[in-house]
Amino acid sequence: MNLIIASNNEHKIQEIKSILKGYFDTILSLKEADIDCDPIENGKTFTENALIKANEIAKHTDCAVLADDTGLCVNALNGEPGIMSARYAGNHDNAKNRAKLLKNLENVKDRSAHFCTAVVLRYPDGTVLTAEGKVYGIILEQEDGTNGFGYDSLFYCNELEKSFGLATEQEKNSVSHRAKALHNLIKAMKKL
Ligand code: IMP
Repeated sequence: MNLIIASNNEHKIQEIKSILKGYFDTILSLKEADIDCDPIENGKTFTENALIKANEIAKHTDCAVLADDTGLCVNALNGEPGIMSARYAGNHDNAKNRAKLLKNLENVKDRSAHFCTAVVLRYPDGTVLTAEGKVYGIILEQEDGTNGFGYDSLFYCNELEKSFGLATEQEKNSVSHRAKALHNLIKAMKKL
């Protein structure tokens, strides 16, 4: 079976391909599959958003579709930016999003947070599997490292005992929210 990943984010695509490669004949990004589709993510949860993406992309292909939705949830901000993570400070501007997060956490002691990823796998017959993964840490007072993307340089990962900005791709993939969600998805695939 062939799989289309409902994303054009290179970081995500590499991570997803490396974990799911044994389970599908070919794995293609939207660009590689020549699908031009940018669904409006107006769900109320990560899973709802991933489902919206998977169902929309499925209209353009006979392959299985994998969609994910991720966000950073900060306890002192009542779970924000959460599902608004990409648009926290406007439109998909990672540097502005990080600056807004630091500003909102100025003088805040409890900096605990987690990344959450929801993944949805939609098979060509319409069967849908969902799974979630989380990784816990704290929001640093300043950026640390330049690896990764999005909020990575501000996230100190408890499991790795370093920021995602300093972690190698392999280190991040060994503990990340997305990796955990994908491994939980594989468990669900094996039960089908
Ligand atoms: P989405 O899942 O692509 O909608 O991502 C939502 C927001 O979270 C965007 O601002 C991303 O840059 C950010 N994001 C998603 N995954 C990660 C990650 O693994 N590390 C840091 N930021 C991420």
